[in-house]
Amino acid sequence: MNIVLLGPPGAGKGTQAIRISAHFDIPHISTGDIFRRAVAQKTALGLKAKEFMDRGDLVPDEVVIGIVKQRLEEPDCSTGFLLDGFPRTVPQAEALVDALTVGGRALDKVLNIEVDRDELIRRLTGRRTCRGCGKVFHLIFDPPKSSTTCDICGGALWQREDDSEETVINRLKVYEAQTAPLVDFYRAQGLLVAVDGRQPVEVVFSRIDEILHA
Ligand code: ADP
Ligand code: ADP
Ligand code: ZN
Repeated sequence: MNIVLLGPPGAGKGTQAIRISAHFDIPHISTGDIFRRAVAQKTALGLKAKEFMDRGDLVPDEVVIGIVKQRLEEPDCSTGFLLDGFPRTVPQAEALVDALTVGGRALDKVLNIEVDRDELIRRLTGRRTCRGCGKVFHLIFDPPKSSTTCDICGGALWQREDDSEETVINRLKVYEAQTAPLVDFYRAQGLLVAVDGRQPVEVVFSRIDEILHA
């Protein structure tokens, strides 16, 4: 099962990806997570990506494409994968087709998680992540018992720098300009399935489960 999760920042891609990945036993590949890890470890990739991420702009295609291509060649992707946050531009989507075609693979479905703008801003500005285990909370929609500590592991909760309201506004603009065209791109190929992302997490997941079993 080769799946792409599409949707604006804050739509719930990461939240659903964890569930899909566990349920269907396919690796979850989040380019955002790969970049954040590289930034934290101060690798060459991290240093390159950081300035773009801090502004809420996209990391250049040539950087992202190389990383994803490499990741898709790893053995755990041979029976399926779930891409979260990639592709985000038409050139990335075209590079993905090429990379998969070489190995005789293709995408099975593209799930487009739809959420309106006001809700996206609420979700992004209230997002908190655990430094210890990586669990993602929301101060209102999935509140931790304490706003500073993880319920699961006791780790410190932090707010992504790019989740400040100012950067969020830019990320939504960047999404409209560069990523939204992928909706038509995948619709034209008959791969797109729309998912109403405004529902509660478990309702969204059962809809996705239904779609992927169909
Ligand atoms: P994305 O990966 O698309 O940017 P996330 O999965 O990180 O989005 O979700 C963004 C924020 O919204 C998180 O704080 C998460 O807890 C919360 N969230 C995710 N899905 C829902 C939902 N269906 N209803 C309410 N809040 C949600
Ligand atoms: P979100 O949860 O808001 O959808 P991500 O965690 O997927 O955000 O991405 C965070 C940042 O990482 C993006 O704003 C961008 O700078 C960079 N990034 C992640 N994936 C890509 C990609 N496919 N192409 C370019 N930049 C990316
Ligand atoms: Zn934790």
